[in-house]
Amino acid sequence: MLADVPAAATSRAVIDLDALAHNARVLARTAGTPWLAVVKADAYGHGIEAVATTCLAAGATWLGTAQLAEALHLRALLDARGTARPQPGPDAVTTPRSPRLLAWLVPFLTPKQAAAPGSALRQALDADIDLSVSTLAQLEALAAAARAAGRPARVHLKADTGMSRAGATADDLPALARASRRAEEEGVLDVVGLWSHLSRADEPSSGSTEEHLERFRHAEDVVRAAGLAPRVRHLAATGGLLWHPDTRLDLVRAGIGLYGLSPDPSVATSAELGLRPVMRVEAPLVQVKRIPAGQAVSYGGTWTAPTDRWLGLVPLGYSDGLPRAAASAGPVAVGGLRTTIVGKVCMDQVVIDLGPAVGPDGEAVPAPAAPGDPAVLWGDPHAEGADSATPTADDWAAVCGTISYEIVTRLGARVPRVPTGGGEPVTR
Ligand SMILES: *Cc1c(COP(=O)(O)O)cnc(C)c1O
Repeated sequence: MLADVPAAATSRAVIDLDALAHNARVLARTAGTPWLAVVKADAYGHGIEAVATTCLAAGATWLGTAQLAEALHLRALLDARGTARPQPGPDAVTTPRSPRLLAWLVPFLTPKQAAAPGSALRQALDADIDLSVSTLAQLEALAAAARAAGRPARVHLKADTGMSRAGATADDLPALARASRRAEEEGVLDVVGLWSHLSRADEPSSGSTEEHLERFRHAEDVVRAAGLAPRVRHLAATGGLLWHPDTRLDLVRAGIGLYGLSPDPSVATSAELGLRPVMRVEAPLVQVKRIPAGQAVSYGGTWTAPTDRWLGLVPLGYSDGLPRAAASAGPVAVGGLRTTIVGKVCMDQVVIDLGPAVGPDGEAVPAPAAPGDPAVLWGDPHAEGADSATPTADDWAAVCGTISYEIVTRLGARVPRVPTGGGEPVTR
């Protein structure tokens, strides 16, 4: 049974919360550590509220977002449903009933801007959100906000261990650590964590992850030498969690695996990992029709019917996040038939091939599908009751030259997310 779908919506993304809880259990068992559920980008396009709730029920003690705005939104959702704020103090236990929130992308502010009432950093302090700090300028702004607010900021210092994205390089970390220690002594900062991110965790034997880990150990020596005592060291996302046990440390940050997708299907597919894809994108066909051999389809006429043909019209397009690279390639399942988009992807619609309308002896072949039949773009072919012809987000990624992360996160806001399972209240 499904929750409400807006009556006029032409498509939906069904979010299987039972699959999500299953994936969480698989990853938590593998990691053997506390885990942070990465719910950035609206939970990878799955809908942050239902995903966060399910992850907490499945044992997540941390929730993480990239942008501070997402973490503030999350805190408001948790407050509204009565989820406790974490206890203050260094020895407070973090539990799923009072989870901690971490954000790692914060707007750049000067100390003066940061100290102003209502600044983004003051909002973060008020909302009990832990923040990542990579630079002295970020540290000074956060210290200014904390001074003005009269309460210390909880910080995870980020070391750059080889990705060269955020994080302090080995050259810059000692000064950042010393300044952090001074701010702790002043009472405006608590360095609770040291963290970094792996750049090649999906390459089990490149040697890159071992180098990251070595640099991480060095960073830990540097911050300890400055007098800091970070209690939560974290490095692994899903790839590290699965394929580099040494990187699990005190906490793992699980993203893509929670959503039932492999960080790299060329290393192991989600089915091989025992993960179940959580999102199923589908739209009932709005039209089925016959066209003659030689007729071109969609803008530019880039695909031409090789025989008299049945076509289906699917009300999803690039404004809903379907890549234009899926022209005459994006896989679709309709009633056990595996087919593809034909011709270009339009803004709101695509056309799919439903097969020949004439048989080898010239006899008429009836349409294999009717208006209202669901066209499934991606989902879990192995799910109970699923169409076994269902493509996966990895299939879409392969034909579009991208990764499953991009396929699911790009799904447009116009497609209603419909949670199912998970003990959520269900209505029709
Ligand atoms: C997105 C992200 C993650 C999660 O990565 P997955 O590969 O989806 O598990 C973890 N940490 C950071 C810093 C991230 O940006």
